[in-house]
Amino acid sequence: MGTINDHLIEIDDIPEYPSSLYLAHEEVCNYTCTFCTSRVSWRKEPPEVRNAGYEAITEKLKPVLPHVKRISAHGRGELFCARGILKTLSEWRPLAPAEECSASLETNGSLFDAEHWKQIENLGQYNLRVAITVTSFDEYTYRLLSGTTLPIQQLIDNLHFVRSLREKGIINHLEIASVVQERNFWQMPEFARRCVEEFGADTVRLRPYLVHGSNNPIRDWFTDMRGAYHPYREEYRQIMQDPIFQHPKVLDWGGGRDSQTPDLLPFLIRREKVRAIKVMTAEILKWPFRKAKRLLNRLRFGI
Ligand code: SF4
Repeated sequence: MGTINDHLIEIDDIPEYPSSLYLAHEEVCNYTCTFCTSRVSWRKEPPEVRNAGYEAITEKLKPVLPHVKRISAHGRGELFCARGILKTLSEWRPLAPAEECSASLETNGSLFDAEHWKQIENLGQYNLRVAITVTSFDEYTYRLLSGTTLPIQQLIDNLHFVRSLREKGIINHLEIASVVQERNFWQMPEFARRCVEEFGADTVRLRPYLVHGSNNPIRDWFTDMRGAYHPYREEYRQIMQDPIFQHPKVLDWGGGRDSQTPDLLPFLIRREKVRAIKVMTAEILKWPFRKAKRLLNRLRFGI
């Protein structure tokens, strides 16, 4: 962007400790979202090796912590399941005055109740931003997309608790976010309205699903209803005409526009050649049978 000179720093000016700390190393979660790109089950190393690594990081961060002014946690796991990250956050005692310090948290909200909040309530004295990612307020859709058996009411109760923290000024900015996809786009007008009116969100971030390989290619293709060849694309465009998406608090990152996803066959060829060949072979083999069935129907029923 031609701004590299603004970001250069003399090597002698690099401070001994960083002033910002981004914690997203502890990949643990109580959900298994269908669109997740950081599933624990994909990790190769045994859990004890992984946990030893997390503990080592937690220890190494201790001398850094007092010098940190901005801290953020998660985006690649669930905050309230990440014991090491929670410990680091709870032990953060910055040397800088509280008004110069800020914290930013991202969580799926399923465990954000009074008891869990207690572990890190020290963050409430700083400028605190919280983002909560929610797939849906409909029980079936929520459970399906989040890969959980938790009741939606638990999350709704937690959102009311978070709203109370926002109203007391303990949280300074509350964002509720969702990944808009084939299963939930129909619900987005009502979803956005509830986020603003019922849960007091300062912003509602609607990020469209991106085909980045979190699923097998066919499912990936079908999940992206913004594709120009998707059967639900027109419905998606109509839904996105709802006036709620013009609300200043609602940030629709998709903007009702098409994605770059091509038709299924070119998509498959690009992503998985062997699968594409299998699908095409099956189609060619099935073709004479389909033709014969149609002919038979015409003879029998005249259709
Ligand atoms: S809540 Fe986040 S980290 Fe956990 S499974 Fe869902 S997308 Fe992945």
